[in-house]
Amino acid sequence: MRVGTGWDIHMLTEGRALVLGGVKIDSPKGCLGHSDGDALIHAVIDSLLGACSLGDIGTLFPDTDPRYKGISSAILLENVVSLVTENGYRIINVDTTVILQSPKLGPYKDAIRKRMSELLGVDESCFCIKAKTAEHMLGELGTGDAVVCQSACLVE
Ligand code: MG
Repeated sequence: MRVGTGWDIHMLTEGRALVLGGVKIDSPKGCLGHSDGDALIHAVIDSLLGACSLGDIGTLFPDTDPRYKGISSAILLENVVSLVTENGYRIINVDTTVILQSPKLGPYKDAIRKRMSELLGVDESCFCIKAKTAEHMLGELGTGDAVVCQSACLVE
């Protein structure tokens, strides 16, 4: 069994959709990014790649590559899950934390859990999302101008 961790941060700005865990969140601000900016999926991808020693998201999907401009991060995750499987690993569970000042993610947790477990090919009981605010601290995180996501996973 092998463990992996992942972390991602994105700036939040008006005029962009906020997509986290493959689910659109109703918000006046969304993630800036080369892809759709889904920081939760990006953190999960890095944890999976880390667990399998397969590099990192920036190496696999460079933000200078026009093929990935505006791409749904769900597609990137599907590619990584295939890569994990091809390398002989099976995902056991993925545990995540989202730090977002607003909006509150409570109403979206079930949908995110459902979508992420589908993408990961695991039972819903094997994906967890925990949501926290920054208690109005930590600069841009506390003012609602950034989102941070963390992921830990286990593969065998
Ligand atoms: Mg990212």
